[in-house]
Amino acid sequence: MTQPDFDLVVIGSGITGLTAARLAGQRGLRTACIESVLFGGLVININELDVPHDNGPVSGISLATGLMGELVELGVTNLNETVTSIQYRNGGFSVVSDGGSHGTQAVIVASGARLRRLGVPGEAAFEHKGVSTCADCDGPMYRGKDVAVVGGGDSALQEALVLADYGRHIHLLVRGTAFRARGHLVAAVSRRDNIHVKWNTVVEEVLGAEYVEGVRARSTSGGETFEIPCSAVFPFIGLQPNVDFVPSDIRRDANDSLATDTALQTSRPGVFAAGAVRGGYGGLLADAVSDAGTAVASASAWLAR
Ligand code: NDP
Repeated sequence: MTQPDFDLVVIGSGITGLTAARLAGQRGLRTACIESVLFGGLVININELDVPHDNGPVSGISLATGLMGELVELGVTNLNETVTSIQYRNGGFSVVSDGGSHGTQAVIVASGARLRRLGVPGEAAFEHKGVSTCADCDGPMYRGKDVAVVGGGDSALQEALVLADYGRHIHLLVRGTAFRARGHLVAAVSRRDNIHVKWNTVVEEVLGAEYVEGVRARSTSGGETFEIPCSAVFPFIGLQPNVDFVPSDIRRDANDSLATDTALQTSRPGVFAAGAVRGGYGGLLADAVSDAGTAVASASAWLAR
C-alpha cells in the first residue's frame, strides 16, 4: 500500500481546527489543515474575546493569526480548498476537495457551523442592507437608531449588548418566555435600559424599500401581528452544522450535528469531530480548545494502534 500524503487531515480552520492542527504538528504528525473560506472562522468577527490576557483584550483576528503563524513554523500544510467528500480508501481516507484528493490515515472534522437563517420574506433581500449577523462590524452604522435582535441564546444576548452601546432602542425578540443564554449575559441585559425584551414574539417578515425599515412580528401567545419599526435586524437563532461533505453513514443527531463518543470519535473509526460541528459542544472558546486536545489525542491513539 502506498503511504498516504498525511497522517491527519483537519477539516476547518476555526479556533478548533487551528488548535487541533497545532497540537498535531507539535506531536510530529504529518498534518494538513483545509479551509474553504477564511482561516480563523467565526471568531474573527469578535473584537474583544472573553479570555484573560496579560496584555489586555485579545481580538479574534489576533488569536487566529497567532495560531496560523505557529502552524507555518510547525510545518503543517495549510490548504485553501473546499472539501466535497471524505472517501474510505485502503483502510484510510481520501479527503476530496476542489483542489484534489488528499490521502490520510485519520480525519478530524472541525468544520464548525453557520448561523441559522430565519427563512422569512425579506431576510435574504435585505442582507447587507440592514440584515446583519455581526454586531461588532455593523453596530456603529446604527448609532442612535432602533434595531431588532432575534433569539434568546448566548449569541443574541451577547450581540444585543454590543448593539446597546450604539443603538437607541434594541428590541430583543424572543419566541418563548425564557432566555436560553447564560446567567451573566441575562444579568447584563437586564442592566441595560435600552434593551427591550419582547417575549412570545416571532418575526414573519423583514420590511423595507431599499433598506430595512422594520419587521412584521407575530405574538405566539395571542396570535396578533404587529410592526416594529427598526433600521436593522440581527438574527441569532442558533447554529447549523457544516456537514454537507461528511458521508451519510456517519451518524448525526436530531440537529444534524455529528454524533461522537467521549473520545470525540464519530461512528466511523478514524474520523473524529470537534467543536461546533458535533452534538454536545459546549460553545465557549475554552470548549473549542478542549475539543481540539481530545480529538488530537484520540487521533494519535488511532494512528498508533
Ligand atoms: P442557541 O441554540 O443557544 O439559541 C438559539 C436561540 O434562538 C434560542 O433562544 C431559540 O429559542 C431561538 N430560536 C431558534 N429558532 C428560532 C426561530 N426560528 N425564531 C426565533 N427564535 C428562534 O444558539 P446561540 O447561537 O445563541 O448559541 C450557540 C452556541 O454558541 C451555544 O452553545 C452558546 O452557548 C455558544 N455561544 C457562547 C457565547 C459565549 O459564551 N460568550 C457567545 C455566543 C454563543 P428557544 O430557546 O425557544 O429554542
